[in-house]
Amino acid sequence: MQEEQILHALAREGNLRTLPEAEHDGVWIGQDGRRMLNVASNDYLGLASDRGLQEEFLRGVPERDRLLSASSSRLLTGNFAVHRELEVLLAGRFGRESALTFSSGYHLNTGILPAVADGHTLILADKLVHASLIDGIRLSAARCIRYRHQDYRQLQSLVEKHHAAFSRLIIVTESVFSMDGDVAPLAALAELKKAYPNVMLYVDEAHAVGVRGRHGLGIAEEQGCLADIDFLCGTFGKALASVGAYVVCSRLMHDYLVNRMRTLIFTTALPPLNVAWTKFVFSRLDGWKDRRIRLASMAEKVRGAVRRAGYPCPSESHIVPLVVGESEKTVLKAAEMRQNGFYVLPVRPPTVPEGTSRLRLSLTAALPEAEVERLVEAIEAPSIPSEGGT
Ligand SMILES: *Cc1c(COP(=O)(O)O)cnc(C)c1O
Repeated sequence: MQEEQILHALAREGNLRTLPEAEHDGVWIGQDGRRMLNVASNDYLGLASDRGLQEEFLRGVPERDRLLSASSSRLLTGNFAVHRELEVLLAGRFGRESALTFSSGYHLNTGILPAVADGHTLILADKLVHASLIDGIRLSAARCIRYRHQDYRQLQSLVEKHHAAFSRLIIVTESVFSMDGDVAPLAALAELKKAYPNVMLYVDEAHAVGVRGRHGLGIAEEQGCLADIDFLCGTFGKALASVGAYVVCSRLMHDYLVNRMRTLIFTTALPPLNVAWTKFVFSRLDGWKDRRIRLASMAEKVRGAVRRAGYPCPSESHIVPLVVGESEKTVLKAAEMRQNGFYVLPVRPPTVPEGTSRLRLSLTAALPEAEVERLVEAIEAPSIPSEGGT
């Protein structure tokens, strides 16, 4: 069997994936009889582990929204009042005409590009965009060029070179990048696109919404360009502690997507109870400034430790890679960190480029201060040399 050979090959290379089993207890993870601090979670504001907040929501949720299934697509009988209310809330907070929500970030990114990009479209995508965006590009009829990660000058020359030959160009980027934790210059990208009437900008703020910006609206808010991004996207599954995703856009684009976006039309809508929870969390986002500040100062400490320990660190956010380089060494470093009580996972090629294997630390505002100090010490401590380990 072909599948069996492939699995054997993956196991030989040390790249076989399995579904990890772990017990969750707030910021702690239990695995193989060991209790570890979870520094690999996307619960950036600590809301998913906040039981009190969830109980408050459940006590107050209206009878109308206590439904565990929408039982249908939004275009049939699955469009409940709470779906609309969330979209009105989003559009209002972002100061834009419209918003549209989806079942997940994966639905979002595999749905919009195939709907709006035809054979006369050129997509210019950062080399490191998320797999869901890559799949969206593949499903579209557009041509695509991947520019070097964060190479704004290359992007600029590609736009200059190609804009006249296509009816539409779409620049696709993340704002906080998921593996390097660096931040895209969205204001500069917005200026670039404004110089050409047929260039559009698509930004995925999955790792930034809730975490960055004065009101938690993301990097576009932080850089003052909320109004200039044609497809301003984000997800509810990370800092917002829920499930689903959104785009804020023009009224025209909203109406077009409702007619053409297959991952919206041909799937069951999210259950009203989940949508009500997202609405509850999003409506309070402004009030969690203290958590954003705490996360930012914690991230600064951890980035400092990574740099002092001699690792290259491109991060400008709460996602802090510790780039070890070789895969074997990375696996050993991850094991050492787990022995010290920190749940971190090695990230290896093909997820990241060859020679840049790393530990990916992703921090949450819920980490106790003393644990952050311990983490800093563990990062700075010299590695135990491994006898013949390679
Ligand atoms: C997590 C993630 C997604 C996928 O979102 P889901 O809601 O988990 O499907 C999309 N884009 C980026 C950049 C992500 O990190």
